[in-house]
Amino acid sequence: MFETLSDRLSSVLSNLRGKGRLSPADIDATAREIRIALLEADVALPVVRTFIAAVKQKATGAEVSAALNPAQQVIKIVNDELIAILGGETRRLQFAKNPPTVILLAGLQGAGKTTLAGKLARWLKAQGHAPLLVACDLQRPNAVTQLQVVGEQAGVTVFAPEPGNGVGDPVGVARDGVRFAREKQHDVVVVDTAGRLGVDAEMMQQAADIRDATSPDEILFVVDAMIGQDAVQTAEAFKAGVGFTGVVLTKLDGDARGGAALSVRQITGEPIMFASTGEKLADFDVFHPDRMASRILG
Ligand code: GDP
Repeated sequence: MFETLSDRLSSVLSNLRGKGRLSPADIDATAREIRIALLEADVALPVVRTFIAAVKQKATGAEVSAALNPAQQVIKIVNDELIAILGGETRRLQFAKNPPTVILLAGLQGAGKTTLAGKLARWLKAQGHAPLLVACDLQRPNAVTQLQVVGEQAGVTVFAPEPGNGVGDPVGVARDGVRFAREKQHDVVVVDTAGRLGVDAEMMQQAADIRDATSPDEILFVVDAMIGQDAVQTAEAFKAGVGFTGVVLTKLDGDARGGAALSVRQITGEPIMFASTGEKLADFDVFHPDRMASRILG
């Protein structure tokens, strides 16, 4: 992901190398090129507009610094703006004062929720927590088994309805799961929910009902970074239908253009908290805006 954007940005910025001073025309031309690079990477238009306005304004007003030449100054400005649109500071999980902390996962089918549940469980366990996974995706055939498999890989307990029991009642399973966690001293509960291939009212309602039954401390909207511009609409629909406190970007290992990843924070106002970069449970980390920006700038 981001290879094309990275290449485009480095070639735009390398055109500035060797310039003693940037004229307004240089700044305009550079801003135009950056705009094209961002749009080609599928970054949402409002995000591109804010980005370009900020770069232009800062480049025009830039103090002539003895330490940085003009090209380096523009690179720094672009880097700072990338960090800003990605959310600035790293946002950490908020744990409940009275355990268990409940983390609800929401997103479309195929976004990577069930895989993420395993990744989060493994990561939480490594941090000394005793997580419980709760299988509330009763829609997709095999979702419960898949959660049991990732739970086993992560070495954590999975709370799932008995076959033939509770199959139609994900809200009841969620509630029972949280109760089970409290009884068995699990301090974090990760609730996997059903997704559909597209946004639909029934799915939103189910996720909202599970939310109301479990009072989550965090609701993570899981979004496949490969789906491009659709990610923005999907995020807005989930924001309105369920609400969320953070975003998890999945499939950042893909070769899509990555604009979704660069747009979702500014569009939804919620922080990107984690990133998934592969199918294995270890392919996962806390999202750091500054590291992502440096990766993009190469
Ligand atoms: P869910 O329907 O939201 O629960 O999605 P799943 O967890 O079942 O994931 C859908 C598919 O995407 C599976 O084949 C996963 O192995 C795959 N997947 C999940 N996360 C990633 C990721 O970060 N990178 C890649 N390449 N594949 C992923």
